Amino acid sequence: MDSTVLKVGSFINHQVDSDFMNELGKDFAEHFADYGITKVFTIESSGIAPALMAAKHLNVPMVILKKQTSKILDGEVYQTRVMSFTKGTSYELTLFAEFIDKDDRILLIDDFLANGEAATGAARLIREAGATLAGIGILIEKSFQKGRQRLEEAGYYVYSQAQIARLDTGVIEFVE
Ligand code: 5GP
Repeated sequence: MDSTVLKVGSFINHQVDSDFMNELGKDFAEHFADYGITKVFTIESSGIAPALMAAKHLNVPMVILKKQTSKILDGEVYQTRVMSFTKGTSYELTLFAEFIDKDDRILLIDDFLANGEAATGAARLIREAGATLAGIGILIEKSFQKGRQRLEEAGYYVYSQAQIARLDTGVIEFVE
């Protein structure tokens, strides 16, 4: 097994612990309470549960960015190509224009931060739409990969609920 991929199927990805998701959503809502968030964005599918809970606690809508296999040629959409960390293939990250306004201040929530491909793609779509990415909330940041640095260098604020310094077979070391 690839030792840089952590399996979380029992509580995040496949079976979902709703009480835990509610607590994570509450924590994001508290952390970003003063950021003027108007919408929570997430990337299908694993980010949906915590993002929905965060949106509920912030009392704002949640919008799902879709992973399409090909470009949509009609309709009002923003699309950008993103490389999937776990699958090694790419997809068209897709945002329907009707769900974003120029004055939106967006909190992006995702389950994992690895190399920052997904979040950087979402940031591109939000910028293209003329809105503001006010913050990024991550459940599990793998701090030994370059995602945080990449996002911070691009000027984005990242809040991670858990930070992993090292992963190996049977080993998870958290950042102190
Ligand atoms: P990035 O785009 O930052 O390189 O990778 C983040 C995306 O890849 C997340 O949306 C997540 O779905 C997936 N991902 C990255 N690392 C892991 C991992 O260790 N475990 C799981 N289950 N998904 C991961």
